[in-house]
Amino acid sequence: MTHAQCCICGTNITERFWACEACERGYNLPRSYAEWPEWAKLLQRDEATRRRRRDHEIQVIPISLLNRAEAAQVDRLLYGDGDDDD
Ligand SMILES: [Zn+2]
Repeated sequence: MTHAQCCICGTNITERFWACEACERGYNLPRSYAEWPEWAKLLQRDEATRRRRRDHEIQVIPISLLNRAEAAQVDRLLYGDGDDDD
């Protein structure tokens, strides 16, 4: 599992923070993210996106692992009903 990262240097940090202590101090970032300078907010948004993706990772299952019924269902989902084969 991927950890939360500091949005500036990428070091692993606690989930509820956006920047590590070193960066907060080094860049003199206010405690509250709302008061961050624009460049830091941009980085924060990137990290927020990354965390969202991480939390909603899409499971990829090769279609060859599906049984026939499931494969047919996927077919319908992908291509819609109305094919008259089978
Ligand atoms: Zn950092």
